[in-house]
Amino acid sequence: MSSNPLRYGIIADIHSNLAALRAVLDALAGEDVGTILCMGDVVGYGPCPHEVIEALETAPLHSIRGNHDRYALGENSEQIRPSTAQAVEYTRRCLSPSDNAFLEGLRDTMLYQDRILLVHGSPREPDEYILNQEAAILNHRYLRSQYGGINLCFFGHSHLPTIVGDGKVVYEIDSGYTLKLKFMVPYLINPGSVGQPRDGNPAAAYAVLDTAEKTVTFRRVAYDVEDTQRRIQEAGLPRYLGERLRVGK
Ligand code: ZN
Repeated sequence: MSSNPLRYGIIADIHSNLAALRAVLDALAGEDVGTILCMGDVVGYGPCPHEVIEALETAPLHSIRGNHDRYALGENSEQIRPSTAQAVEYTRRCLSPSDNAFLEGLRDTMLYQDRILLVHGSPREPDEYILNQEAAILNHRYLRSQYGGINLCFFGHSHLPTIVGDGKVVYEIDSGYTLKLKFMVPYLINPGSVGQPRDGNPAAAYAVLDTAEKTVTFRRVAYDVEDTQRRIQEAGLPRYLGERLRVGK
C-alpha cells in the first residue's frame, strides 16, 4: 500500500464493531493515509472485541483508550451502568491475553509528535462529554491555556461529528465536508463514531487530516449493519444494541 505520511486517518469509538471497522480501514486505504490516529473506545457494546483488536494490530495505528477500554480491563467498574454491564462481561470473556496487553498498552491521552492532542472525552477530563456550547467553549479555552501552541485536538466519546473552533460549534457535518484549518486557530474535532454513530446516520464515520493541505475532511461509509446485528444476537447481547445501529442513535 502506498501511503502519504502527511495524510492521517482519524477514528474513534469503534466499539467492537468489526464490519464497521473493516469498511473504514478499506476506505482509509483508498484515502492514501500513512497513519491512523484513534481516540479510544476500541471495545465495548459490540460483538467482536477480539477481532477488532486483531485488525487494529496490523494497522499503522496510534491509539489512546476510552472508558469502555478501561471497563474491559476491570478498571472503574463502579462507573459501569447496569445497562452496559452485560456487554462489559461479554467483552472481558472474549479478550485473549494479547488483547488485554494491547489495551493495557494504551494511555488516556497522547500528544502525537508534539502537535496533535488526542483525548477521549475532552482535554479537561477523559470522560467529559462535549455535547453543548458551554462544554465546547470551556474546553476550547482550556486547550488554549494548557496546551499553548497546540492547535489541533481530536476527541471522541460523544459519538457525534463535531467541530469546535473559530468562535462556533458545529454538529451537523455532511459526508465529504472539508474544513480548512485556519492559521493559529485551535480546533477541537470529533470525527464521529466508527462503530456506534449517534447522529441519526447509521454509516460509519471517520475523518482524514491532511497536514500539507491543512484540511480535515469528514467521511461516512456504509457497512453491513445486518452482519453486526446478527453477531450481537449470536453473542446473546441485548437486542437494542443492534437496533440502535440501524438508526444511528
Ligand atoms: Zn464510546
